[in-house]
Amino acid sequence: MRVIVESKNDALIAYNVLEKRIINSGFCTLCGACEAACPTSALHITGEKVHRLHDCSKDLDLCPICYEICPHSEALLLRSLSFVADAPIKNEALGYYRKIVLAQAVDSKLREQSHGGAVVTSLLKYGIETKVFDSAIVSQTEPENPAKPKPSVALVPDDILSAIGSKFFPSSVAKAYGSAVYGHGKTDIAFVGVPCHVLALRKMEAWQHKIIDNLKITIGLFCFGTFSLGSMLEYIKKTYKISPSDIKQMRLSSKFVIQTKSDVIQIPLSEIKDHILPSCRTCTDFTSELADISVGGAYPLKDWSTVIIRTRAGEDFFYKAVENGIINTWVIEQEPKVFERIVVAAMQKRREALKEAKEMEEVYGYLPVLLLRETDALAHIKIEEIMTKNIKPVPQDITVSQFLDFVAKHHHIAYPIVNENSEPIGWITLEEASKVEKQMRNVTLVGQIAIRKLVAVYPEETALDAFKRMSEHEIGRVLVFDRVNPKKILGIVTKTDLMHTLTKQY
Ligand SMILES: Cc1cc2nc3c(=O)[nH]c(=O)nc-3n(C[C@H](O)[C@H](O)[C@H](O)COP(=O)(O)OP(=O)(O)OC[C@H]3O[C@@H](n4cnc5c(N)ncnc54)[C@H](O)[C@@H]3O)c2cc1C
Ligand code: SF4
Ligand code: SF4
Ligand code: SF4
Repeated sequence: MRVIVESKNDALIAYNVLEKRIINSGFCTLCGACEAACPTSALHITGEKVHRLHDCSKDLDLCPICYEICPHSEALLLRSLSFVADAPIKNEALGYYRKIVLAQAVDSKLREQSHGGAVVTSLLKYGIETKVFDSAIVSQTEPENPAKPKPSVALVPDDILSAIGSKFFPSSVAKAYGSAVYGHGKTDIAFVGVPCHVLALRKMEAWQHKIIDNLKITIGLFCFGTFSLGSMLEYIKKTYKISPSDIKQMRLSSKFVIQTKSDVIQIPLSEIKDHILPSCRTCTDFTSELADISVGGAYPLKDWSTVIIRTRAGEDFFYKAVENGIINTWVIEQEPKVFERIVVAAMQKRREALKEAKEMEEVYGYLPVLLLRETDALAHIKIEEIMTKNIKPVPQDITVSQFLDFVAKHHHIAYPIVNENSEPIGWITLEEASKVEKQMRNVTLVGQIAIRKLVAVYPEETALDAFKRMSEHEIGRVLVFDRVNPKKILGIVTKTDLMHTLTKQY
């Protein structure tokens, strides 16, 4: 029998899971939420990685925080969704919202600088000037490296103006949020970030972390992905002979545009898609579905942004700025092409992310995190609707050779093992069986190599319950048992079944 050894601290200290599943697997997008939320100040982002400065398990016996609030973990998603879910409209592509409008800054100089509607900058400036909030989390750039975002706590309008424009590299804005609370003592903070940044903040809210009481409003940006700074700069240097200090500005239109002192280079997006962060490939949120207000482009219109107002707080603030002559608005229904493009982009991002997730699951046996409405969708599906029925259990006393013949006939890769009373006692998988040396296969019984970790679900539970149990126990399948006769197996649900269910929906 296989014995699973897990030290107490490994199971109870979230960092161990965060390190294994997110940081070392390449799924971290450097938002900095774990650093801001850690109660022992153990985490610190340096370079392009989260580092643990000291072993926090020496200070605490139990701490679930960093993994749960990480935007790439499966924890707290449904609760995070609840912050916007009272909005009257639920759109398959865009999430929950109250209104969608086109908007632009009245100040044309700001629009010129932003290469968009400059709505975010105008709203933040207005909010600081009128004391709606006392600070704002923005992303400026490093003076010596204009490509590198510098997350900052903006205290005066000039700080906000110097952050205008989009930077397509990771910005640790949630870390800056922590500095606003702890370092500057700010209590009414506006936060700007891409969807995974906003999700990190919502997760802190769902967790009821003490620093979240100081959050006044979240402005989310639309996002197709961010590039890895190190690998992109290296590529640009190698391919175009441009060193980071020569770069004056970078922006994205239909191509990635790099401006130097003397030149403008336009790189097709297809050429640099491999430099997009791994998490972005499985991210399903295009429009910052959890923000109070989401802002994105309004292609083909120039100088305009699309604004999705989701919460009442977002609506009140946005229309105050409109009434005070800071922002112009225009009805999106008059510009059907803009609306169509956003819906198509959102659906495309979702579809591609689910496809990528499915491929990763097949290749690595790992299901990347499901986001928001995927979780929402799973919560509405009963296990009995998706389970594979007519499972063929394997008796514990057949040999590995007999089992391999059985697999060849029935084509599944995992089977429950039953004892002489037909009671399930564990699992056998093709992978485990093939580890047995060839000469031993006729004398080794499957009962001897069984994985004795049976995790149960019930037909009336939801697909989300199955997903949660698989994640908790780090397994790829669960058995469905009869509630009335708990020894009776009714079916199996695998992670691949969950992916198929989702891909059928989108
Ligand atoms: C990585 C990324 C990808 C995007 N992808 C798309 C897309 O595919 N389609 C689309 O329509 N829109 C996309 N956007 C949004 C778009 O580029 C504009 O940011 C948005 O339309 C707001 O425009 P604005 O003129 O109102 O913003 P501005 O007034 O120029 O203000 C921009 C604000 O964004 C903040 N910011 C800039 N870069 C970052 C960053 N990396 N992380 C966190 N905050 C940042 C700044 O602090 C600033 O306050 C993306 C933005 C980013 C950062
Ligand atoms: S103390 Fe910090 S690093 Fe350790 S588990 Fe908690 S949040 Fe994570
Ligand atoms: S919380 Fe943010 S910085 Fe921390 S591991 Fe997750 S993505 Fe990375
Ligand atoms: S695509 Fe998703 S994971 Fe990537 S930066 Fe944007 S919001 Fe974050």
